[in-house]
Amino acid sequence: MPKSERIVYNPNPIWGTYTYGERSKTMIEQLCPEFQLVCDHIIKYEDFAIYEAHRGRDAQEIAVMDDKSDAHFGESGHNYLPAFAMHALVVPIRWKDHKTIRRNGGLVLGVAATLGIDLIWGGNWKRFDGGHYELRGWQERVKHDGIEPTDRNT
Ligand SMILES: [Zn+2]
Repeated sequence: MPKSERIVYNPNPIWGTYTYGERSKTMIEQLCPEFQLVCDHIIKYEDFAIYEAHRGRDAQEIAVMDDKSDAHFGESGHNYLPAFAMHALVVPIRWKDHKTIRRNGGLVLGVAATLGIDLIWGGNWKRFDGGHYELRGWQERVKHDGIEPTDRNT
């Protein structure tokens, strides 16, 4: 077959085509093992970016001031290291494309469920937060294990 006739664009990429970018990899390192496992799997389906994991005190309080969060430092799964919350969206990120964000939210929750990991998705909140996922029950774990929030710029 002449070179020009080769298919160079595959609209239905095969399993395992995508890989995380450097920022995502840095974020994944901050996550609890359950989220790391979820991240290992979701990238096989879609081109996800993990764009936030841990937040120190300043970052958390800025999120509150910007009306992006109701949780003060220590009240969010983002404030722990390893973190019990992450932000994941498929790139390119289109914040207003709720249809795509919802579909991918279902994907993340479904993949996590098959791994036996129960996540809470911010897309189900009254204040729609489609990129946010947190481990169900993280507050109980923190209390039980006496884990303190980590105030570090990450
Ligand atoms: Zn969040």
